[in-house]
Amino acid sequence: MVLKSLRQDIYFDDIEERPVNARHIYLERKLRSAINHAYKHAPAAREIMEKARVKPADIHNVKSLVRLPIIRRNDLIERQKAAPPYGGFLAIKPEAVERVFISAGPLREPLHSVKSKPFAMSLWAAGFRKGDIVINAFNYNLSPEGMLIHEGLRQCGATVIPSGGSSMEMQIQTMRDLKVNGYAGTPSVLLILIKKAEEMELDFKTVFNLERAWFTGELLSPENRKMLEENYGIDTRQAYTVMEAGGANAYECPQKTGLHLSDDYVVEIADPVTGNQLKPGDTGEIVVTPIDNKAWGLIRYGTGEMASCITERCACGRTAHRIQVIKPQ
Ligand SMILES: [Zn+2]
Repeated sequence: MVLKSLRQDIYFDDIEERPVNARHIYLERKLRSAINHAYKHAPAAREIMEKARVKPADIHNVKSLVRLPIIRRNDLIERQKAAPPYGGFLAIKPEAVERVFISAGPLREPLHSVKSKPFAMSLWAAGFRKGDIVINAFNYNLSPEGMLIHEGLRQCGATVIPSGGSSMEMQIQTMRDLKVNGYAGTPSVLLILIKKAEEMELDFKTVFNLERAWFTGELLSPENRKMLEENYGIDTRQAYTVMEAGGANAYECPQKTGLHLSDDYVVEIADPVTGNQLKPGDTGEIVVTPIDNKAWGLIRYGTGEMASCITERCACGRTAHRIQVIKPQ
């Protein structure tokens, strides 16, 4: 539901300007509930907690998460091999799983809904609205990006063309014929589309209508951002996503000074060796715990990617802390 207020054009939802203290209280309450749920319903989560000699009541705030080990992608793959199909992390009844995505490993990721408000918030902050025509260049086949981002764009009111996986020629023709003004995908695919169009002797800036682009899956280099914005007039935004954890998402606002964390994950910046939490400004591993995803009893998922946390208030008015992602995804 889109926010009905005078600030509607800035925020998708008024939780984006929730007072810092209220957000902190909310996150810790949801964290306690998620830990209890995982302990009760996900055998792998219970086993990990018992091995660490931790009871759900011991994880009463974000700081206390350090008592648990960081779980990494390879751990998930190994656990799924040993206890198929979900490695003991499924925390709802199997018939309640809406979709199953599969990535390399193979790693099976159950999702109970692709309607993700944080993705809508991310795309809204990038300027997508009703009346926009957007090509979604993410693959819809097996991987979650295509459908999650599709639903997020729909929640913003945009018309979506599911172009992921089709040929470059087809995507170029579609962008031209349908006067596409928005792009969701990786930076590298957009750069290839522009290059290909120019090889076809089409002047991208005058023949196409592309106004905004939303990227995830790769970091956008400052050089490419400058080039896309200055040479082609495309407003660019980046988002950071962790699909293994059910689509954790942090997103850029118009300030483009770091990515705001969404409220359905607890994110720690941790020392990758000791697992200790680091202070704002220090660079460490991005570790996420879903707190609004009953399907997946995953606690402290270590992404292997590095970032620092910015706690200063952002000029856009959003109150969520930001991360500056350093290592490419
Ligand atoms: Zn901001």
